[in-house]
Amino acid sequence: MPTAGQGLRELVATVAPGDYTAGLTLVRLEGSAMTYALQGSTGTWEVVVGLEVHAQVISNAKLFSGAATAFGAEPNSQVSFVDAGFPGMLPVINRECVAQAVRTGLGLNAHINPVSRFDRKNYFYADLPSGYQISQYEHPIVGTGVVEIELSDGSVKQVGVTRLHLEQDAGKSIHDQHPTKSLIDLNRAGVALMEIVSEPDIRSPEEAGAYLRKLRSILRYLGTCDGNMEEGSMRADVNVSVRKHGEPYRTRCEVKNVNSVRFVMQAIEAEAMRQIEVWESGGTVMQETRLFDSGRGVTRPMRSKEDAHDYRYFPDPDLLPLVLEENWIAQLKATLPELPDAKKARFIQSYGLTPYDASVLVAEKATAEFYETVAKGRDPKIAANWVTGDFFAALNRTGRSIEDSPVTAQQLGGLLDLIADSTINGKIAKDVFESMVETGKDAAAIVDERGLRQVTDTGAIDAAVDRILAANADKVAEYRSGKDKLFGFFVGQTMKAMAGKGNPALINETLKRRLAG
Ligand code: MN
Repeated sequence: MPTAGQGLRELVATVAPGDYTAGLTLVRLEGSAMTYALQGSTGTWEVVVGLEVHAQVISNAKLFSGAATAFGAEPNSQVSFVDAGFPGMLPVINRECVAQAVRTGLGLNAHINPVSRFDRKNYFYADLPSGYQISQYEHPIVGTGVVEIELSDGSVKQVGVTRLHLEQDAGKSIHDQHPTKSLIDLNRAGVALMEIVSEPDIRSPEEAGAYLRKLRSILRYLGTCDGNMEEGSMRADVNVSVRKHGEPYRTRCEVKNVNSVRFVMQAIEAEAMRQIEVWESGGTVMQETRLFDSGRGVTRPMRSKEDAHDYRYFPDPDLLPLVLEENWIAQLKATLPELPDAKKARFIQSYGLTPYDASVLVAEKATAEFYETVAKGRDPKIAANWVTGDFFAALNRTGRSIEDSPVTAQQLGGLLDLIADSTINGKIAKDVFESMVETGKDAAAIVDERGLRQVTDTGAIDAAVDRILAANADKVAEYRSGKDKLFGFFVGQTMKAMAGKGNPALINETLKRRLAG
């Protein structure tokens, strides 16, 4: 069992047996809200994480050639001579890719560098036919920025962005199609990537997950990257080190090409655990590049870490420095959409939503638009409850996305109108909604077809109440002698007698009156 070291206040969670070495435990540090630390045999360790995210730019053509970029095309069908590294071919920069990088920089509240430069990063690999990647080394297009993340305890943290630079993607090596040969698909070679590098400000898997989700949300709002990690259009390299509280940074390792938010979070914990064991057993963590084995939940070495000088960076002589005009940047800025943070603030302010509901609703642009359509002219809190509650549950259950939702925002709004004007009560509305999900029909049509209109006819309610009271004379007597709790029984029975369609307020009122005397 772990021992509570100095400064420990509360044990947050114990690592599941078998997952990691016994004795390593997640703890909460005294005096800080959500500090994550790992308990080793020599005390608690802080985890330090920086993320390098490669985000594929949404553009019709590649960064330096006119070849197409669509995902899933026939292998080697979208390759120009430039992408194939033919001698003498000259790269020509794609203005739209530059605009996308600038939009992203603006969306990250970052400094846009009016002058940047492309360099050659030299290395040999079969899927890199030119023998170098055109990238930006000393002079990236975007400088320092910031991403604000929200944590599960409601706190907000700023994660610094060091830089964003533009570079070419490499092709794809395919090793499992032929017994003795590797195949190469150059469709991806030359596609524009934005490499977004964070400061080492992240201190837990949760923060890393929140950062990646927020970054993906911003990129998708901007329309600069689709954020699809399964298709590889967003990949993360995870830099992890550990240290005792208050120490300078220790040596970090880079876990390469992790392709889901969940795997990034798992990789951080696994790599931090490994490093703590190395330090605590008297060893030294060596700087290296590692891979995350998601099946086994461990990282393993890939190669010893290369340094910048190994790549022999030099300015690409085929390309002029990239000079951006101030008014072009201003034009791009003027056409940016409302981004998640601003939208969240507006949802809290103008709809009176809780910060949590607002965060959930703004995470995806499509969800935010759906919500605003439902809320328009209706009670915004009721609309939020339906969208985040029954509607999200229905999407989950049916495996549909909001784009191909079985119920449109107008249809959900129509259902809320029927509740608001007392055509149906809230309980019947849940049934109607389920029918809407199944059939795709409007709420009003289902209510009419199934005769679900709420009964507000006081004569019918009086009659139902009379029958129930007559059939339960014993309980009426008990109620009148002080057993108040029976009131709910009478409501339930009356509602049942009216097939769930009675107006709850009128039933309550009638029962109170009749039971009183
Ligand atoms: Mn890179």
